[in-house]
Amino acid sequence: MILPIYTLGQPVLRKVAEDIPLDYPNLQQLIADMFETCTACDGIGLAAPQIGKPIRVVVIDLDVISEHFPEYKGFRRAFINGHILEFDDTETETIEEGCLSLPGIHENVTRPTRIHVKYFDEELKEHDEWIDGYLARVIQHEFDHIEGKVFTDRISSFRKQMINKKMKALVSGSFNCHYKVKPANRK
Ligand SMILES: [Zn+2]
Repeated sequence: MILPIYTLGQPVLRKVAEDIPLDYPNLQQLIADMFETCTACDGIGLAAPQIGKPIRVVVIDLDVISEHFPEYKGFRRAFINGHILEFDDTETETIEEGCLSLPGIHENVTRPTRIHVKYFDEELKEHDEWIDGYLARVIQHEFDHIEGKVFTDRISSFRKQMINKKMKALVSGSFNCHYKVKPANRK
């Protein structure tokens, strides 16, 4: 089932999401719905707060970009109870990001290229590993969501000022996008 995307201004996007018990009701269905929603919106990742749930569940689908990143052919993974344990600050990279919860906004964000994460996958297998490359970038973006953050929190105050009007339009619900959304204040 394709779910509506909660957009900026929705309080759930500002909550620190909670770990879930691994026998969380209908977890597999939730993951399937999140993948389906992500694909329908042309996204590469989706975090549960973006569909209104303050829980630590994230899906990432890099298969859709495998034309440019062949190493991610077939990469579709759920991250349950994910936490970033360490950032390797020796190298950072600046890449333009966008977000299904902030349609129409694209800004450069600087992040470390390597992170130490722990999570359970959709088969409930526990992982504790260092990840680098584009996946590390996408994990940092999605895991920000489960910490109550969005990518525009990480841009300069100058850039924030430049996009202030667009951000206000998002919060007030006066915007268009091609997928189903649940804005905070749309009348
Ligand atoms: Zn996002």
